Amino acid sequence: MKERDKLCIVVPCYNEEEVLPVTVSRLTEKILSLIQRGLVAPESRMLLVDDGSRDRTWELIRRYHEKEPLVEGLRLARNRGHQNALLAGLMEARGRYDLTISMDADLQDDLDAIDAMVEQYREGCDIVYGVRSSRETDTPFKRGTALAFYKLMNAMGAETVYNHADYRLMSRRALDGLSQFREVNLFLRGMVPMIGYRSGVVEYRRGERVAGESKYPLSKMLNFAADGITSLSVRPIRVMAGLGAVLFGGGCLWLLVLLVLFLLGQGPAGVTVAIASIWTAAGLNLLGLGLIGEYLGKVYLETKDRPRYLIETRLFQEDPPSLS
Ligand code: UDP
Ligand code: MG
Repeated sequence: MKERDKLCIVVPCYNEEEVLPVTVSRLTEKILSLIQRGLVAPESRMLLVDDGSRDRTWELIRRYHEKEPLVEGLRLARNRGHQNALLAGLMEARGRYDLTISMDADLQDDLDAIDAMVEQYREGCDIVYGVRSSRETDTPFKRGTALAFYKLMNAMGAETVYNHADYRLMSRRALDGLSQFREVNLFLRGMVPMIGYRSGVVEYRRGERVAGESKYPLSKMLNFAADGITSLSVRPIRVMAGLGAVLFGGGCLWLLVLLVLFLLGQGPAGVTVAIASIWTAAGLNLLGLGLIGEYLGKVYLETKDRPRYLIETRLFQEDPPSLS
């Protein structure tokens, strides 16, 4: 019976002591209103995942858990990054809840989109993507780099939903599917579309961080983009091979032209051109090697089969909701 389905909102938190009080109160309000309107079961909750914070985040989560029946907490053994923290939360919620919604702690994602997500779930969607309809509150720099990121991702063969980050609803069935993806190089927004099932989209306006600072500086963003591309597709290697073929073909043609010129009694073209071409080819070589190294590094990490995260503490509510 869909109207009795238990919802869990999963929120990864890293050094979020400043914003957490607001987040918890806004999420509490939202969950209560969903329960009151009979859209989700009364056992619905939020799960705050502390990703090895160094500030008072975990202390706050523990306190909220004690006085607020809607709050559950999960603490990872150390900082493992947003994607791992989110996956840990989702996997802990799987089996205990019927549907999950993942979102950031900073309330940049409009909470009111949750209603529309749940609506689509009740209509039969297993995955509902939250998609930003505008980015006017982001700095032009963030907007520009984010756009370049999506364009690059898709050009390189990683299928992602445009302007969708990790604000999404997933049914239990979709989470069961996700749990079978065993890779340690995580890029959830690229993996989730691979699951399949019926999916929907909800548009929302992205606001500003309510408090605290972004945990994604440019260096982390660039790493994330490189991970995204190399963990999902081998197209960059093919592009490199293609470039190599073109370069080799061009080089052969060039040599042929030089040979003809030589035979016609005219000296070969300037040395500068030759040097420039050597540099270009050397650069290309290095780039190709670097890319291969990147993939090799990924294979290396995958074969080690390390755990993606370790859990230190689970603060679940006394009576875990029974499976329906
Ligand atoms: N986060 C995390 N572990 C990290 C970095 C970030 O769990 O190592 C969480 C963070 O607390 C937030 C979410 O990931 O809930 C997104 O981070 P942030 O809002 O700083 O990124 P931005 O929106 O600026 O890209
Ligand atoms: Mg944010």
